[in-house]
Amino acid sequence: MLVTMKELVDEAYEGGYAVPAPNVDNEHNLRAAIEAAEELNSPVIIGHICGYNPDIQYFGRIATDLARRAKVKVAINLDHGGSFEDCMAGIQAGFTSIMIDRSQASFEDNIREVAELAKAAHALGITVEAELGHVGVGQNYAVDGKQMLTNPEEALQFVQETNVDCLAVAVGTAHGVYQGEPHIRFELLEELTEKIPVPLVLHGGSGSGDENLRRCAKLGICKVNLSNDLRKAAIESLVEQDLNGDGAYEMYNYLAAGFKSKLKHYIELLGSKDKCGETNE
Ligand SMILES: [Zn+2]
Repeated sequence: MLVTMKELVDEAYEGGYAVPAPNVDNEHNLRAAIEAAEELNSPVIIGHICGYNPDIQYFGRIATDLARRAKVKVAINLDHGGSFEDCMAGIQAGFTSIMIDRSQASFEDNIREVAELAKAAHALGITVEAELGHVGVGQNYAVDGKQMLTNPEEALQFVQETNVDCLAVAVGTAHGVYQGEPHIRFELLEELTEKIPVPLVLHGGSGSGDENLRRCAKLGICKVNLSNDLRKAAIESLVEQDLNGDGAYEMYNYLAAGFKSKLKHYIELLGSKDKCGETNE
């Protein structure tokens, strides 16, 4: 069932769990993500980074079609949507949510550009996620992990003035592989959860540590973005197979198996298992 991301994060907010947002870019990992969610009766937010598939309209057609046929609730989010035009192309392609990242712009420009997108997207029933503070990259964690954490006062003003449906916060996670140990600021997260009236989102879930992520889901994070860990699990599952003889024909199945099993691990960890109403047989 194709739904908006707002519906899923609002339900998670009420229920005290987080919905996993696997990042996918083609039919194979898209199918693997939806199958994993169906097998555990979990809602799922399909994340697709702008530009990872060369044809967003085609990707949108596959994603919306598979989502409509899914037994569980599926939202399709354009992750780190670039320009206003990119975001509009995502809406045209059928995405039910747009994440607009202006976290490196000034506070004022971030508010102005996000508010503009939110007005247009909301008129079409599309969810909007934005980022305040800046979630950097794991390879530069010594610097990015400390700088530009989300300020709670600013975050409240940002949400009120932009009218976003959910907010990605910087509390010590980073995109990609960490160089060093992730240090999550749980006190900051608690303060943000208390102050901010919309569900919070965590980017850079991969490599952050199971206990850390479980705690974040309990402390108000309603969506966790996952990419690197799922891709690595897919590759590991492929390389451990015997690819001699006819083994290569199974390439996509091996990749999907690793991707699915890692995503199922995160579904259980974040507490979204069986959160889609009636359980499947
Ligand atoms: Zn991100």
